[in-house]
Amino acid sequence: MRFSKFGLTTLRDTPAEAEIISHKLMLRAGLIRRLAAGLFTWMPLGLRVLRRVEKIVCEEMDRAGALELIMPAVQPAELWKETGRWDKYGNLLLRMRDRHDRDFCFGPTHEEVITDIARRELRSYKQLPINFYQVQTKFRDEIRPRFGVMRAREFIMKDAYSFDLDQSGLEQSYQAMHAAYTAIFERLGLKFRVVDADSGEIGGNRSQEFMVLADSGEDAIAWCDEDGYASNVETAATVPEDGKRAAAKVNLEKIETPKTKTVETLTELLEIGPDKILKTLIVEGKKGPVALVIRGDHELNAIKACKMPNVTEPLTMANPETIQEIIGCTPGYVGPIGLDIPVYYDHATKCMSDFVCGANEFEKHYIGVNFGRDIKTPTTVDLRNVKDGDPTPSGSGTLKIARGIEVGHIFQLGQSYSEAMRATVQDKDGNDATLFMGCYGIGVTRIVGAAIEQNHDERGIIWPESIAPFKVVLIPINMHQSETVREVATTLYSELKAAGLDVLLDDRDARPGVKFADAELIGIPHRLVISERGIKVGQLEYRHRRDEEAKMIAYDKALQIITPS
Ligand code: ATP
Ligand code: MG
Repeated sequence: MRFSKFGLTTLRDTPAEAEIISHKLMLRAGLIRRLAAGLFTWMPLGLRVLRRVEKIVCEEMDRAGALELIMPAVQPAELWKETGRWDKYGNLLLRMRDRHDRDFCFGPTHEEVITDIARRELRSYKQLPINFYQVQTKFRDEIRPRFGVMRAREFIMKDAYSFDLDQSGLEQSYQAMHAAYTAIFERLGLKFRVVDADSGEIGGNRSQEFMVLADSGEDAIAWCDEDGYASNVETAATVPEDGKRAAAKVNLEKIETPKTKTVETLTELLEIGPDKILKTLIVEGKKGPVALVIRGDHELNAIKACKMPNVTEPLTMANPETIQEIIGCTPGYVGPIGLDIPVYYDHATKCMSDFVCGANEFEKHYIGVNFGRDIKTPTTVDLRNVKDGDPTPSGSGTLKIARGIEVGHIFQLGQSYSEAMRATVQDKDGNDATLFMGCYGIGVTRIVGAAIEQNHDERGIIWPESIAPFKVVLIPINMHQSETVREVATTLYSELKAAGLDVLLDDRDARPGVKFADAELIGIPHRLVISERGIKVGQLEYRHRRDEEAKMIAYDKALQIITPS
């Protein structure tokens, strides 16, 4: 490709709308352009990367025996009503009506459509196992589209769905997808971890996420190399304290604590650590508000909180008016002493003694609080996020916390969809058997952003070779003034192309500095500079995007260095 014909515009300045580096670089390098919130055009340069990602994904899906199809993006409401998701999916679902006033949605995922295919097409156990996949545009009306293509509203997903006769078949299909995903992310050249994930409303079934490690990731993951544990923090279990509590040393006292709505202001005023404070959060419940009590230095885990009886999903903090009405104070001064609503205590509160908590009065707290003496000793539950240094569930290791970007999700759905939609086949004995289903998603467009998060420097993107839009960029110096440079550059361009390489020839009449900066911004792995000085001694200047320094190489070594055997 000649740069002059590629219609590429790069931006010198960072667009103000972009928060994270991959979004900034994707805009600056001209990979994408924004149309509206969460909607992006993939420009020719970006599309080259996207297609490479897709190709690797499809090759590994094919290798694993999955069958490609394409389902409609627009789906009739009737199917979603069969599974109950027409109501459950909420505002994430983009709904629409056709000219006959029938309800439709733009598919955010395709379990219903594929289960409809399965119940029509699959008759006998002999057709199993089977796994269908597609690469397709989804729409989810995300509450906060952000980070460019990483949390978009319209995005491309590879989604696959397996059907088996029984649970052990499903487990095999699941493992095959686990292996295929591992191969995909390895080929993409990304550093990733597979973690246990929340299985949502279908309890007990296995689900794992593939996380690309990056500080900007929206997910927190907890892992331990010693015992092989790895989980999304959303689901990582805390280990209950051993129950040894220090004896009470001081008396209970109610004190004035002006302007101490937060744990932080309270620690400053009282000159104590946050681990001496009991934090009481009031959330909405099915029969009125519920109190959730955790240690001041801990974070509430919304998924765990929603598993408590009475607590409503999604987790919603009670509003200040409700708290005032029911408890008689503003949020920030609530505590469990004398509280007349259901209270759940986190495991870590169990060993606290002589601690501080809200007094259910404006700007007042209790100090010197002790279980047994001042409040009933509670039974405790798991309510908080694990943190760095916590023990692993097996007790034999210590957790580390890192941030990750979820690029893939594999899930044993079991029979929930097939039961709701009556998808059965005949088993060996001629009886109807409800299908066992698995689903497996990869965020194809998100991968491009995630790859940049992991591979960049202050000058721009550094593509992994497997998905780079071009493998090599040729930069001729003063090509428009020097006949020799032009000749050598165009010959080399043809030779490299003939060798099957994707080459970008920067034939613009621009200063070398501009060309170098663009090549680095776009992130092409190999760069060759053609100059009159080099030509005189039969040499080119070579630099890999990750190299500190350029080096001179013999003209005929170029191909060898770019495609090492
Ligand atoms: P998230 O927790 O990030 O919202 P999810 O659990 O909703 O993801 P799935 O329903 O499992 O995601 O979808 C499969 C894959 O699609 C995800 O692993 C992710 O890579 C991708 N994906 C999901 N939502 C988006 C989005 N809004 N923009 C881009 N990719 C997305
Ligand atoms: Mg989501």
